[in-house]
Amino acid sequence: MKKSLLVQPSYPIPNKSKNHSNFLPIGLLKIATYLRIQEKEIINPDQLVWGERLINFKPKKIYVTSLFTYWSEYVEKTVKFYVSKFPKAKIIVGGILATLMPNYVKNFAKNINVFEGIFQEAEEIALDNGAAYDLADEYEVDYQIVHAMRGCMRKCDFCGTWRLEDRKDYDISRVLNNILRCGAKNIIGKKRRNKVIFYDNNLLANNHIEDLLIGLSDLRIDNKRVICESQSGFDGRIIRNKPILANLLKKARFINPRIAWDNSYSDVKKIQEQIEILKDAGYNSKEIYVFFLYNWEIPYEEMYMKVTKLWDLKVQIADCRFRPLNQVYDYYKPQAWRKGQSSRSYFIHPLWTDFEVRSLRKLVRWHNISIRHIGYEKYTHIYFSYLDKLNPKKIKKYKSTKDIIQKELQLKFSD
Ligand code: SF4
Repeated sequence: MKKSLLVQPSYPIPNKSKNHSNFLPIGLLKIATYLRIQEKEIINPDQLVWGERLINFKPKKIYVTSLFTYWSEYVEKTVKFYVSKFPKAKIIVGGILATLMPNYVKNFAKNINVFEGIFQEAEEIALDNGAAYDLADEYEVDYQIVHAMRGCMRKCDFCGTWRLEDRKDYDISRVLNNILRCGAKNIIGKKRRNKVIFYDNNLLANNHIEDLLIGLSDLRIDNKRVICESQSGFDGRIIRNKPILANLLKKARFINPRIAWDNSYSDVKKIQEQIEILKDAGYNSKEIYVFFLYNWEIPYEEMYMKVTKLWDLKVQIADCRFRPLNQVYDYYKPQAWRKGQSSRSYFIHPLWTDFEVRSLRKLVRWHNISIRHIGYEKYTHIYFSYLDKLNPKKIKKYKSTKDIIQKELQLKFSD
């Protein structure tokens, strides 16, 4: 008898992105493994659903996962739907939103349960038995998501990691065996999953990082080498202290290495050094990304300087618009150039304006296109024209997006 239902709310993402590693409900897949092994439950693919679905069985337990706080309304809608359809079921809401704002979530409906933090038992069982990727076969998932550790020893103000997770390293042989298990053909799902995406928030902080990287470099799944990527990038400060790690990352076939430049422009030398270390290890500058938090305490003028410096260094930018960790909505529309939007629609940092947020995004987009197509004058020309139009000295005197669009620059681009 089917007892449990696993639910990922319908977030505002295109259907095709459900196969994207950002949105695969890996926590629910781990819970499914836990239910199968610990509770001896049969879990079929129809027990994992997105959003509000009419299902043909009466679940006794409903596990709802949650993501970013600014998508809270989707979680609320989903919870209310299942409470109304299955008033006798036990509803458990876990995940990022539930952990960061448990009291807010408790108010979504009467008698729901909020689970804070990591479901460690499910995590451990899935580490030794594999997450239930077979439930997501519909989305043709051709990668596996791995955690070799949890938490982070740093405490960056804007980051939720250290609030969400305790610091813990997993045994490397368990991690490597699990990668083999989940990737093996015909064992779980139809795909051979030799692409491994690490969700660790600070992978290099793992006390056994060298063993992990050496283990990965030797790993084969059905004679295919394992290809790795770190979702959250690498802590460049650790790379600077221990450059050998960059060589080990390359040997372990980590692609698209990302480091972060979150603080002020004055870190420029350190960032440059980190990029040089990655290049010395064999990475082409085009495949290196620098994370870039904007709409944050570093003002537009300084971010603009960072963009121009990263153009000199010929690396790409992974931009990230800051939202506070208790922000419960975000209606930012990239195409709203003409009218602009106010902080009633989305969070605009007091040091930023709507126009600056859009301008930075625009610059980054053309920066990346130009880096990827170095040598194509057409793209560089467009990029340079934006750099000129969006120079902070030029846009400073305008008070609102509307002023700029209508009266002065007559910029008619959409994002
Ligand atoms: S180093 Fe990264 S993961 Fe750690 S607290 Fe800072 S932003 Fe978060």
